[in-house]
Amino acid sequence: MTAEAHVARNYKPLPVTIASGEGAWVTDVEGRRYLDLLAGYSALNFGHGHPDLVAAATDQLGRVTLTSRAFRSDRLEPFAAALAELCGKDLVLPMNTGAEAVETGIKVARAWGYRVKGVPADRAKMVVAHGNFHGRTTTIVGFSDDPDARDAFGPYAPGFVAVPFGDAAALAAAIDDDTVAVMIEPIQGEGGVVIPPDGYLREVRELTRERNVLFIADEIQSGLGRTGETFACDREGVVPDMYLLGKALGGGILPVSAVVADEEVLGVLRPGEHGSTFGGNPLAAAVGLAVVGLLRDGGFQERALALGEHLGTRLDALVGRGVVGYRRAGLWAGVDIDPAVGTGRDVAEALLARGVLVKDTHGQTIRIAPPLVIRATELDWAMEQLQVVLSR
Ligand SMILES: *Cc1c(COP(=O)(O)O)cnc(C)c1O
Repeated sequence: MTAEAHVARNYKPLPVTIASGEGAWVTDVEGRRYLDLLAGYSALNFGHGHPDLVAAATDQLGRVTLTSRAFRSDRLEPFAAALAELCGKDLVLPMNTGAEAVETGIKVARAWGYRVKGVPADRAKMVVAHGNFHGRTTTIVGFSDDPDARDAFGPYAPGFVAVPFGDAAALAAAIDDDTVAVMIEPIQGEGGVVIPPDGYLREVRELTRERNVLFIADEIQSGLGRTGETFACDREGVVPDMYLLGKALGGGILPVSAVVADEEVLGVLRPGEHGSTFGGNPLAAAVGLAVVGLLRDGGFQERALALGEHLGTRLDALVGRGVVGYRRAGLWAGVDIDPAVGTGRDVAEALLARGVLVKDTHGQTIRIAPPLVIRATELDWAMEQLQVVLSR
């Protein structure tokens, strides 16, 4: 095992050192294989080393990898056109990490508020949800309510109010004339795969439309096939004003994120007002275009739906036997572990010893988000390992 003596301790990794990966499997430095049920927090929806994505990246590596946005590249427009079509929107603003997409969304919403809605200068307000996770920048952690994410990093940027997730009445009450946007995760991933009550997203859509406020859906983790639909918002047939995308958009190969919206919204930005040295670079655009290609025929979405139902029946059998309860959307589950068995971390460590990789979140919860290429038999095997761990 390779210790990380020179790596800052902002993570506490499980004791495994991965050397290679293929599909749903990774291999450590000692040659042991593990089934990956985290999939890079859903960045690896298409598995490790998907041949189409590796081919797109390899091909582009030999051509050109960075032009900067000072010049055009022949990869950016095809990627933007394909992603805009997948989203049913007009425009794409490419960035790199998820947090950058969120920051970009905040800037666009504020500019829209001042230039289109007519909010007085510097008064723009955004409504967010308790339990949110939108990334790690100083502005974003200011409206987190996770003390670890937030406490040591003030002063916090003003302009955000938080309301309970899933409570449309609280949301309605928080909107005023200065509100420019409501920004939520349609399903809270880091929060433990927290699914709002049925109809909530539709209510958010109606409220934001009535009150002339943008609906921003952070689909960085929930989007791109994970829930059995292209977007988690599709589960309620809802189209937000703005999609924030990341994670799987880079196919687990490199960071690719994007803000996707119509002309009336994203068109408010003028040249020079926003940018990124690497955002939309040819390598990222080539991989992103291949990712959109994988999502176009709906095959991965169907897999997530079918495999997710299979996972659900396996989890049902564990409720009351080490599992207190679980929440699931497509091939994505937050499983609450009975404290009598141990913590989420204890379960993750025991599963690691049995060749299964999962990650705990918020103490008692483990998150199950395998690559969508996983086979049902592999999922069964992983659930057998979980059963063994829980019954000890
Ligand atoms: C991971 C995540 C982010 C941040 O993405 P990074 O690439 O880590 O900056 C933002 N929003 C959601 C919902 C996420 O899951």
